[in-house]
Amino acid sequence: MDIQSKHFLSDKVEHFTESVIREMTRQAMLHGAVNLAQGFPDFPAPAEIKRAAQEAVAADVNQYAITWGAKNLRQAIARKMKEWQGIPVDPETQITVCCGSTEAMISTLLAVCNRGDEVVVFEPFYENYGPDAILSGAKPVFVKLRPPQTADGEWTFDEGELRAAFQPHTKAIILNTPNNPTGKVFTRAELELIRDLCVEFNVLAITDEIYEHIIYDGTRHISMASLEGMQDRTVTINGLSKSYSVTGWRVGWAVGPPAVTNAIRKVHDFLTVGAPAPLQEAGAAALALPGSYYQSLAQNYCVRRDRLMPALAEAGFRCFRPRGAYYVMTDIRNFGYDNDVAFTKYLVKEIGVAAVPGSSFYNDPRDGAQQVRFAFCKQDKTLDEAGRRLGQLKK
Ligand code: GLN
Repeated sequence: MDIQSKHFLSDKVEHFTESVIREMTRQAMLHGAVNLAQGFPDFPAPAEIKRAAQEAVAADVNQYAITWGAKNLRQAIARKMKEWQGIPVDPETQITVCCGSTEAMISTLLAVCNRGDEVVVFEPFYENYGPDAILSGAKPVFVKLRPPQTADGEWTFDEGELRAAFQPHTKAIILNTPNNPTGKVFTRAELELIRDLCVEFNVLAITDEIYEHIIYDGTRHISMASLEGMQDRTVTINGLSKSYSVTGWRVGWAVGPPAVTNAIRKVHDFLTVGAPAPLQEAGAAALALPGSYYQSLAQNYCVRRDRLMPALAEAGFRCFRPRGAYYVMTDIRNFGYDNDVAFTKYLVKEIGVAAVPGSSFYNDPRDGAQQVRFAFCKQDKTLDEAGRRLGQLKK
């Protein structure tokens, strides 16, 4: 880039690229590939919540909602957190509704981080967290999640390594459970360990729980804020996107202690003013769905997981079985490629399936060079077509 063009740019943006996940969706469209890259459902959202959105528009809920969120939605969020996780939440002082959990995360980081602060992130990580930390002036510090050794094992982390990441400048830890991209669901014992470090080092936990209802094999999702001692030091982030299959609505929220919420609300107000008002009303209706809705959501995803994984294995991928969320991380060693980006390019162009190169989930791209992520939030026929195409890899 010439010096004059660079003159207009912020140094911050030099340290990250555009999202590879979103780029893979554009590649899929360009090449007519089956899109198992970006995690959005290709099936309809529940009829009752679509109706609620239509009714809200018809009833002229078409102007700004209260900047930190429509009262109905905030009350529904508070009710649901109490009911599902036993967490008492004051909807007046503890909730900020944002444009998706993506905005909730960056608003939170902008609200709590000072230059020089460090933020602990488990790696592989959802690719937004790196740029989020950089934009907020903080330095991300990565702690490795290690892949399971056996077909049915779990991703684990080293206690010593985690402890070493907590330093005097550590402001927060970002915890994503159920986890994207690994599918790990953190256990109570792991959460307690993290809790103890947060208390000892006076660190805030910022949790991304967007996949809370997408869990398999009898695992349970536990919110960090439900642990003793964590209520005053946790910001819980969630949203409508994954639980109700409406990723394009852009409605998410951050729930935290009042002082932190106050700061998040200020950032959010000047970033976006507010999330779409009619969709917030529909969100209140979504959060009132009965427990059976979430049961079938999880069951249906389990069926999709068990449909895609054998097809991937048959095509030569080594799969790490996810316990939650809707992605399968795979090991691509069998294909003899020395890097994941070249391999996913080949997949999207020649095989007709888009996936996400593993390196986009790591700070050092070499760590993900033998991994590729597939999303299975898709209809049977989409998964089957992907399986058929991937079958050609053998030839
Ligand atoms: N969470 C989804 C994924 O990881 C995509 C989210 C997004 O693109 N905003 O693929």
